[in-house]
Amino acid sequence: MKLNTKIKSIDVISSKDKIQFDNEGTFPINFGNNFIDDNEQIKFQSEIELIEDRLSFSIEVNFRYQSNCGRCLTASHNEDRSSFSTTLNVKDDNDYEVNYDDEYFDLSPFISEIIIEKMDINFVCSQKCKGLCSFCGINKNNLSCNHNEKNSKESPFSSLSQLDL
Ligand SMILES: [Zn+2]
Ligand SMILES: [Zn+2]
Repeated sequence: MKLNTKIKSIDVISSKDKIQFDNEGTFPINFGNNFIDDNEQIKFQSEIELIEDRLSFSIEVNFRYQSNCGRCLTASHNEDRSSFSTTLNVKDDNDYEVNYDDEYFDLSPFISEIIIEKMDINFVCSQKCKGLCSFCGINKNNLSCNHNEKNSKESPFSSLSQLDL
């Protein structure tokens, strides 16, 4: 099921106590060579409290994601967690455009930011990764072939090493 990231503003406004809002669900992301596909569940725990016009908010996100090496395309699987907290004045303009007029307080911008911050947009499996042969497409870390880079212009795989998946 899709991750529910929306808390009704009225619940936050009318509550005298801290609200706990925890959830688990799918939250697909694509960032460079990194992604979370739509079968993967992510989890978060958050706490929200409104005192006068100040909204205190904290969240912890647990997630798994896949990174594909930018050179050899080998996939690696990562698990991470990260947290974030802030206090917003809901009467004034704030960076997250959270205000009283919205029906919901939506956590999704916070969640994407937390996750993307952990992803390396230029991920490579190793600084020494030799990548794929641009002629035959083999992984040069594991195998060798007789092609040299001079042939790369004519090759059907020539764009593979720059491919942004
Ligand atoms: Zn690699
Ligand atoms: Zn080759």
